[in-house]
Amino acid sequence: MSTIAFIGLGHMGAPMSAHLVAAGHTVRGVDLDATAAAAAASRGVRIVSSIAEALAGADAVITSLPKPEHVRAVYGAPDGVFAHAAASALLLDTSTVDVETSRWCHDEADARGLSFVDAPISGGTAGAEAHSLTFMLGGRAGDVARARDVVAPMAGNVIACGGAGAGIAAKLVNNMMLFISVMAVSEGSQLAEQLGLDPQVFWDVARVSSADSWALRTWYPVPGVVEKAAANNNFDASFSVDLARKDCGLAVRAGDETGVHLPAARLALSQLDELVAEGLGAKDCTLVARFASPDGTLRGYDPARDDAAAHV
Ligand code: NAD
Repeated sequence: MSTIAFIGLGHMGAPMSAHLVAAGHTVRGVDLDATAAAAAASRGVRIVSSIAEALAGADAVITSLPKPEHVRAVYGAPDGVFAHAAASALLLDTSTVDVETSRWCHDEADARGLSFVDAPISGGTAGAEAHSLTFMLGGRAGDVARARDVVAPMAGNVIACGGAGAGIAAKLVNNMMLFISVMAVSEGSQLAEQLGLDPQVFWDVARVSSADSWALRTWYPVPGVVEKAAANNNFDASFSVDLARKDCGLAVRAGDETGVHLPAARLALSQLDELVAEGLGAKDCTLVARFASPDGTLRGYDPARDDAAAHV
């Protein structure tokens, strides 16, 4: 069994690191947020206070960080991953970042004789809990082969996508399609409500018909239909508006850079921008369903409960 350093123990990192512990690995975790660290500790992760401590003697280093700037800081800082990783350690970033940041990680690792694989994930928090995530791997063939073994306890599917940055490219396209799909499910769910359909009955129909999708099955934005959906929890985030906006924005940027026309993705991005402007960036991305409801209210969402939570 190996020793794995795990940096970023949030919504995804906590369950992922717990599966590595369950597989028999020693997992040393780091997170700036004490609550996140404590939650991971309760699942068997040994919390340490610095990246250097986490990396000492580690066979693999896994990062699960919010945004590109966090990834660049955690890898590139004087007390960061590149400064402390042993040449024998395999470095894997599971965060969703832009292609340039991922290539930067590869280039900086290469310059230091280190092995880096971009290893973004799909499947949401439910997939992380169920160790059924899809991993999209990009890097040198030998490193990717090693990465397969490391991610196995967290994965349902592991797909080698190609060379440096290919995993991230696949992830950005996947997520762009997801947020367009969330808009379709949002509009459909609200139209079904207004047409008087029982939400469960409509969901049962769509689930086995041509409107079926991962967003429908996993994130249906009406309470009482899909057990783990944010609609059952006042739209508290399982995948936050902020992260969705980041992913959608990175995909739109990739469209600009490649000349691909992405009108639907731009519309999805504008709705996410609007939620952020309203101060709702920390809520779940399926709150975009509000834009489809006739009066802007949404069954399952009570803003007063957010205010109450903020004042506890
Ligand atoms: P999160 O915000 O819940 O977790 C990120 C964690 O990183 C936080 O606990 C934060 O405190 C920690 N962190 C930030 N900077 C740090 C630093 N310098 N050192 C140590 N810890 C630091 O985010 P998440 O939902 O777990 O997502 C993580 C990544 O996975 C993101 O890039 C996201 O886009 C991607 N992702 C998320 C989902 C999802 O459903 N939540 C699905 C697929 C991919």
